[in-house]
Amino acid sequence: MTDELHEECGIFAVYSPKAYPAAEDVYYGLYALQHRGQESCGIVVNDDGIFHSHRGLGQVSRVFSGEELGRFPEGSMAVGHVRYGTTGGNSMSNCQPMEVNHQKGKMALAHNGNISNAFELRNKLELSGAIFHSTSDTEIIAYIVTRERLKKPSIEEAVLSAMEDLEGAYSIAVMSSAKLIIARDPLGFRPLCYGKKEDGTYVAASETCALEAVGARLIRDVEPGELLVFSGGEVTSYREHCGKKERKTCIFEYIYFARPDSVIDGVGVHAARLKAGEILARTYPVIADVVVGVPDSGLDAALGYSRYSGIPYGIGFIKNKYIGRTFISPSQRERSSGVRIKLNPLRETVEGKRVVLVDDSIVRGTTSRRIVHLLREAGAKEIHVRISSPPFISPCYYGTDIDTKENLVACRHSLSEISEMIGADSLGYLPLDSLPELVGHTGCCCACFSGEYPTRVPEVTSKERFEKRLSEICYKNITK
Ligand code: SF4
Repeated sequence: MTDELHEECGIFAVYSPKAYPAAEDVYYGLYALQHRGQESCGIVVNDDGIFHSHRGLGQVSRVFSGEELGRFPEGSMAVGHVRYGTTGGNSMSNCQPMEVNHQKGKMALAHNGNISNAFELRNKLELSGAIFHSTSDTEIIAYIVTRERLKKPSIEEAVLSAMEDLEGAYSIAVMSSAKLIIARDPLGFRPLCYGKKEDGTYVAASETCALEAVGARLIRDVEPGELLVFSGGEVTSYREHCGKKERKTCIFEYIYFARPDSVIDGVGVHAARLKAGEILARTYPVIADVVVGVPDSGLDAALGYSRYSGIPYGIGFIKNKYIGRTFISPSQRERSSGVRIKLNPLRETVEGKRVVLVDDSIVRGTTSRRIVHLLREAGAKEIHVRISSPPFISPCYYGTDIDTKENLVACRHSLSEISEMIGADSLGYLPLDSLPELVGHTGCCCACFSGEYPTRVPEVTSKERFEKRLSEICYKNITK
């Protein structure tokens, strides 16, 4: 794990009563979801039951040149995916959407989230003869849906049945030769919504910002546990898995992962971040001259802090907009200059000033230390760090890379120790009990901050658990 956190994935799908250049919409939708995953991406277009696909490693603009997009035929349905892997490495075999050809037809599957009982399920399936080509948990979903399809009369019933076996986080889009299906796990960890364009095309996406990117209007969020089928020009909702469990939307979507112009389950991400800043100002007031945020997700909370406290808001850093395309992950030795390449402090905002610096989280503390150092170099007189999330004390099993306690500085150090380590004059985290205030309800997962998990905690959790599975880990589990 690096000092930066990553979301697992983003999904995007379209369904139209008639053929149109569907790949183009998916391209722009994925582009809007790029922040959710930059390791790989892919598009599958359904042209009258024939699937055309392209996948590759890297960002959307790199994988889909104009030429690649032009090769797609028109189609009435398409699914797309951007990936940051939290189960399985970054290889072509783990790129999505995943495609399956089986006795009952074809299927393309795109998944956002992490199946928390994946190791257990895969062991069971392999011991009964299943063969897997990838090391991602998505193939486990594909396998179970395919197996259920042999027993059930329709693809939607197969997916509903597969949902009985799956635990953890999954927002999925499944495309068969005749139908598009989208579904959200019964706890609703990851967001999923759908909307409609003026021409009647239905669009489903991980975030509302992607609907807007293609000119679609939000209809609503998919309910936790709900499955929607787009077929014959109509949308049908199946709610067998709804309401059986308490909603547990990831609170960190609001704090960090999602784009601020998205709305998740009726709550604006920007508004939630403003509220976090307001709570920080209320809880940890300080006498200062300027409030600055760390781009991007610290900016909204900094504005909230400024508005509540009355301390002027300033632009403290300039972020290199092109970093995503040009930046090669730095070696340990180069990390320090890497922060400066990404972010450069604006001397005129901070020189000689008492600064409130707002960021979204502290993982190991190394990035925070460098950012504080940059502000000192730019002449800041005092630096009061305010964090718009509570301290991380536990790993996440639902699709992010918060993975070991050893990497989480708050597990090993007190508030004052962390403050000293990062070189701040004071430090304040968002109080754990204020999290419901961000969204106006208590139906959120806060496990990485509280240690209280809404599902069983998986036995084997490393990202590479399936790469290693024929070695010791697997042997131990099978022979228990
Ligand atoms: Fe989100 Fe944390 Fe829960 Fe993971 S553990 S789903 S990051 S709140």
